[in-house]
Amino acid sequence: MGFLSTIMDLLFPPKCVFCARVLDSSDDGWCNKCTESLPFTDNGGRQDGEFYDFCVSPLYYKGTVRKSILRFKFKGAAAYASVYGKLLADCIRENADVKYDVISWVPLSGKRERSRGYDQAMLLALATALELNDVAVETLAKPYDVQAQSELGDRAERSANISGAYTVSDPELIEGKRVLLIDDVVTTGSTLAECAKVLLSAGATKVICAALARGE
Ligand SMILES: [Zn+2]
Repeated sequence: MGFLSTIMDLLFPPKCVFCARVLDSSDDGWCNKCTESLPFTDNGGRQDGEFYDFCVSPLYYKGTVRKSILRFKFKGAAAYASVYGKLLADCIRENADVKYDVISWVPLSGKRERSRGYDQAMLLALATALELNDVAVETLAKPYDVQAQSELGDRAERSANISGAYTVSDPELIEGKRVLLIDDVVTTGSTLAECAKVLLSAGATKVICAALARGE
């Protein structure tokens, strides 16, 4: 460990990304208590989807997981991405028994990204790909804002809201390819379905998905 990182750890001791407890040096981004109490899914929380084959998720979106992801999304806790990436990469290795050619993510709109300073799903995909000894590339764009899916109710309402919101940024990148698409949270799956539909219509042969957390 370098001098600077030692000083930084003394000034800003690493904290558990979930419960914010100060970590022991042996902890791996989250604490022992959370290892025992986090709402982990069984068998990767695998759910079938529309247009995509399935989505795996290591965690349920509730309690400390929900609070942690909200800090990640809205309070600038971008360093969480590397811890989340490890969890997501393990989940993909253990539960997504299919091959893929391209790792990508569900993008924010340019406007929302500018106001937040970063695209959290991109950070998550980059960190996850790094853990999988791979790289993540941009395949989709979201040219304009739509109402946040979290503000809407059922699947039909969410599907209508998101319909037409995404475009393919580089068709050559996905032509004939199997895409692994990454997002932070999956609830009804309408956003993933819309993105998968757009990728398939642009020539992708298969889309599978992974999200850090899923609804129950
Ligand atoms: Zn913790």
